[in-house]
Amino acid sequence: MKTVWEKLTAAQLKELNVFCEEYRQFLSASKTERLFVKNGIEAAEKAGFKDYRTVKSVKPGDRLYANNRGKNLCLFVIGKKPLNEGMNVVGAHIDSPRIDLKPVPLYEKDGLALLDTHYYGGIKKYQWVARPLALVGVVCKKDGTTVDVNIGDKPGDPVLGISDLLPHLAQDQMKKPGATVVEGEQLDVLVGSIPAKAEKDDRVKKAVLKILKEQYDIEEDDFLSAELEMVPAGEARDYGLDRSMLLGYGHDDRVCAYTSMRAIMEMKKPERTSCCILVDKEEIGSVGNTGMHSRFFFNVVTRLLALQGKTSLIDVNDVFENSRMLSSDVSVAFDPNYPEVSDPKNTGFFGKGICFVKYTGSRGKSGANDANAEFLAKVRRVMDDNKVSFQLCELAKVDIGGGGTIAYILANLNMDVLDAGIAVQSMHAPFETVSKADVYEGYRCYTAFLKDMD
Ligand code: MN
Ligand code: MN
Repeated sequence: MKTVWEKLTAAQLKELNVFCEEYRQFLSASKTERLFVKNGIEAAEKAGFKDYRTVKSVKPGDRLYANNRGKNLCLFVIGKKPLNEGMNVVGAHIDSPRIDLKPVPLYEKDGLALLDTHYYGGIKKYQWVARPLALVGVVCKKDGTTVDVNIGDKPGDPVLGISDLLPHLAQDQMKKPGATVVEGEQLDVLVGSIPAKAEKDDRVKKAVLKILKEQYDIEEDDFLSAELEMVPAGEARDYGLDRSMLLGYGHDDRVCAYTSMRAIMEMKKPERTSCCILVDKEEIGSVGNTGMHSRFFFNVVTRLLALQGKTSLIDVNDVFENSRMLSSDVSVAFDPNYPEVSDPKNTGFFGKGICFVKYTGSRGKSGANDANAEFLAKVRRVMDDNKVSFQLCELAKVDIGGGGTIAYILANLNMDVLDAGIAVQSMHAPFETVSKADVYEGYRCYTAFLKDMD
């Protein structure tokens, strides 16, 4: 099978490079689910999308978005056919593994001020020490105002970080299993070391609080109602001597979220309504009111249907039953450093296009959405018609491990759903790697699906 690189026309190669540079910049500026939604809405409004709550009726070609609490975004381009005949849906998640601050984070010990943390999602804890981190998020105050915090990414900012033990003194540590080499309670972030002169006790902590008060108007109590995330500092970068790849924080799953979002922005007046779902909380089970299990999506679709004059539960259920979806979430890229986990016949390779994953899950496919063969055949036809490169993948060899996506949640609404994602190396590491060719092909796949799936 030829790689995408060998099939590209000169015009496509140019478009690929422009697209990937736009993605690189967006990813670098969207390191939390909140920032992704904020930057996503900004891009959507530029592309003519309006808040669906501001419209009184919908007609073919209308471009609408629905924002759920700043952490979950749905985009729609209304089709020529009525909504109850079904939508073409692409859906991805915009949360990524990271290290969150605890509700009471700040303390002083032995002359140093630290922030206590609780990690989010499946991380190898030892990967997050001794590297520059940024502090990003919101502090919500009792007066109803929200303070945006972003320290460590702007030029001239200080960075924060978590210490590691020197190898000279790590004989005992190095004998521990990987899961406990660095323990959860050792992931505390060093933030200060200068004592405040006028104070008696906790002088370093008080000096840090003074800085927070001056720069952000935050009191210590305000941490109680905050969502602050430690994320890797620094921009996403071109990767490889040939610059064929991108290294960045949060490709899982912002690479699929961005390409899906760009694909729906390409839609003008599709036959079937196009929909793009961008959800939070996938990395911890799609829970909560901004995760895929939330009633939000169901409610938005019901309201859009009502704007087309249909309010019966039968019509609502018909929308979902007649919809088709690509659950766009990253897949595993074959890694020559770790060939033993993959079956090369059934795994994703860099540069070979979008990965379709018929089933995810673990052991005997437990927890999988298993896409119907009939639906997979239709998807193959749409891809071939649009000359999109794709590969059929499993996450790994049988019984090596497993994972899940949001696919099964939408399938529960009786949609046809297929997992379709971009292959990633070093998934869930502070910096993950993707092939630019696959980013571009992912975008072309989602565009073809929204346009031509029937
Ligand atoms: Mn994912
Ligand atoms: Mn993940």
